[in-house]
Amino acid sequence: MRLRNIPRANDVIAASPLVIQDPKTQRGLWQNVFGNDHPIHIEVGMGKGRFITDLAKKHPEINYIGIERYTSVLLRAVEKLQGKEQPEDGAEQQENTRQDIPENLYFICMDATELPEVFAPEEVDRIYLNFSDPWPKDRHAKRRLPSRQFLARYDQILDKNGTIEFKTDNRGLFDFALEEIEPAGWRLLMHTFDLHADTELMKDNIMTEYEEKFASRGNPICKLIIDRER
Ligand code: SAM
Repeated sequence: MRLRNIPRANDVIAASPLVIQDPKTQRGLWQNVFGNDHPIHIEVGMGKGRFITDLAKKHPEINYIGIERYTSVLLRAVEKLQGKEQPEDGAEQQENTRQDIPENLYFICMDATELPEVFAPEEVDRIYLNFSDPWPKDRHAKRRLPSRQFLARYDQILDKNGTIEFKTDNRGLFDFALEEIEPAGWRLLMHTFDLHADTELMKDNIMTEYEEKFASRGNPICKLIIDRER
């Protein structure tokens, strides 16, 4: 994702009721944040947040937490929901009302390496990884979100019946993920190299920003779902 520094990002995020400001203090207490005991699904590397926001609107019975490392990116998701997005072209933007913000959705600005400090064992029921950065150099493999190093972190927070769902158009990253699964102690439940050609799978598919961009260029979208080996 191309990044430019947006001076107001820190202030907007610090003041946003959508963003959990000190997430480590909620470890083991996330049910209190939502005020219910619904399952918790997280997206790691949510970008501008379209996927997790659409999911939260569609599934009020699930609690969603979107995680993004960069304030300049998270700002886009926050302002979209709070109705204060600055239109790039100077056009006037309608203000959303507070009712447009799903009650089952929060965001966290942090690096995913900190996940085990933010969630207690088994506190998370599903993890979504969408169009994760590929980090093409071998020496950066451990930074890839589906790497065995990250799978070990997800293992620390995911419920024993929990699953991870990963989508990407990057075939190299997808093949890498497929190779990481078994040695890291996970089990492949399903995979496809062309999600958009599968009408059954597409019935429940929620598009991400990157998915829409790359699918419209004709890139096949790969998807896999894993759980722990038993
Ligand atoms: N998931 C979105 C989509 O599909 O449209 C965004 C994809 S974008 C290529 C990847 C996002 O993951 C970027 O916004 C990046 O900042 C974020 N990201 C990458 N590594 C991360 C990490 N270790 N912790 C948190 N966010 C991360």
